Amino acid sequence: YATIEETDVVVIGGGPGGYVAAIKAAQLGLRTTCIEKRGTLGGTCLNVGCIPSKALLHSSHMYHEAKSSFAHHGVKFSNLEIDLPAMMSQKDKAVAGLTKGIEGLFKKNAVEYVRGIGKLVSPSEVAVNLLDGGCTTVKGKNIIIATGSDVKSLPGVHIDEKKIVSSTGALALKEIPKKLVVIGAGYIGLEMGSVWNRLGSEVTVVEFAPDIVPSMDGEIRKQFQRMLEKQKMKFMLKTKVVGVDTSGNGVKLTVEPAAGGEQSVLDSDIVLVSAGRTPYTADLGLDTIGVEMDKGGRILVDKRFMTNVNGVYAIGDVIPGPMLAHKAEEDGVACVEFIAGKEGHVDYDTVPGVVYTHPEVASVGKTEEQVKESGIAYQVGKFPLLANSRAKAIDDAEGLVKVVAEKETDRVLGVHIMAPNAGEIIHEAVLALQYGASSEDIARTCHAHPTVSEALKEACLDTYTKAIHM
Ligand code: FAD
Repeated sequence: YATIEETDVVVIGGGPGGYVAAIKAAQLGLRTTCIEKRGTLGGTCLNVGCIPSKALLHSSHMYHEAKSSFAHHGVKFSNLEIDLPAMMSQKDKAVAGLTKGIEGLFKKNAVEYVRGIGKLVSPSEVAVNLLDGGCTTVKGKNIIIATGSDVKSLPGVHIDEKKIVSSTGALALKEIPKKLVVIGAGYIGLEMGSVWNRLGSEVTVVEFAPDIVPSMDGEIRKQFQRMLEKQKMKFMLKTKVVGVDTSGNGVKLTVEPAAGGEQSVLDSDIVLVSAGRTPYTADLGLDTIGVEMDKGGRILVDKRFMTNVNGVYAIGDVIPGPMLAHKAEEDGVACVEFIAGKEGHVDYDTVPGVVYTHPEVASVGKTEEQVKESGIAYQVGKFPLLANSRAKAIDDAEGLVKVVAEKETDRVLGVHIMAPNAGEIIHEAVLALQYGASSEDIARTCHAHPTVSEALKEACLDTYTKAIHM
């Protein structure tokens, strides 16, 4: 294979960071090549992350609703069954359709797609082991590393993707486990735990820290945990895993209190390890060209996303910041805008976070704890879903909206929502933070009735004056 002609931008990795950067670069008139080793585009997010998990969350929610809520709404039937292979195949079809869609977008935007494993051999050259044999070298004036992240393993807990699985294995189980232990109470563990819990597994979540999802506002987190417990998920917080035995039929997990103490054994059919993710930089040739990383293995970049090596950039999960698909996309766009000689910008203070359980939990900006710690005088407004007419009408009224605003100016500093479709509603708050809006700005904005979004308007009213419906 001959060296591919030099291009303006070479992107290593075709995930949400890499493929979006490649398309945007091409749209800005830069000749662009994207190298991906997986065989399909879309990265972790599309292949084994955001998309398949949301497909299973939706399917399992439908089953759970049919089983536990439909009769209450006067919809009755008998012989409710789960067809797991059909559920998995709808998920796989959604993934396949979307990855093909990105290939189509590459063609439309004239992005060259190279299927293979890329390795930097100089600051402007990437050697590629092609998936269908042979190798080539791709040259670029600018190189963007968008290689994402991988599952973090736990010492002594070997992931075999059979009995001890990562999120990837948990998205493709062949049978519904009777007992599932989830190690790690972050959003991925809770989402995957929810899927199997709804399908009938007994789910126990083991977490070293004293709380689930540590980044969440404390008050919302408490309600969230209570809600998950109501859904029959069990939690063992401040607990560490000290031993694993897979010799029998299932898995025996020995645990003990985080601070030390009496050990106990948890029996399960499947153990899901979801104790975080780690930047993926293996065999990338970073040492060869001298790219600087932090202690956690993340690539260090400046405000223009450039590493310490001129012309070599990095974006997404492989650099510091929240490991989220939409953050990776924003990085990608800003990075190529800089490369094209324009101004790029990512506001990390307004990146929303969503946990796609039911109800969903979504937030943007600062938690009350963070605002308190910063010393800014603030006021809080709240509105329970129980007082929201739409939530009551659809009998889905578990949750709360909480707004934190600066006392002196009423500027919104953080919004935290636990509600059905919170992941959609949150964008009103994202926009508010982006434009420096006050809680009064939101409260004086006309909201359609009856919608769950009205709960945000009411929480804003409660921030600077009084809610109407409370
Ligand atoms: P990735 O998506 O990891 O893509 C990197 C790509 O680079 C990979 O395809 C990899 O094969 C390729 N690559 C690596 N090395 C090389 C090489 N040497 N040569 C060629 N190619 C290479 N985020 C959300 O925002 N919302 C969610 O709901 C959500 N749900 C998730 C659920 C799960 C189960 C998981 C695991 C993650 C979830 N995430 C979610 C996180 C999200 O998937 C990541 O933040 C996002 O994919 C990061 O994008 P990226 O482009 O930086 O990296």
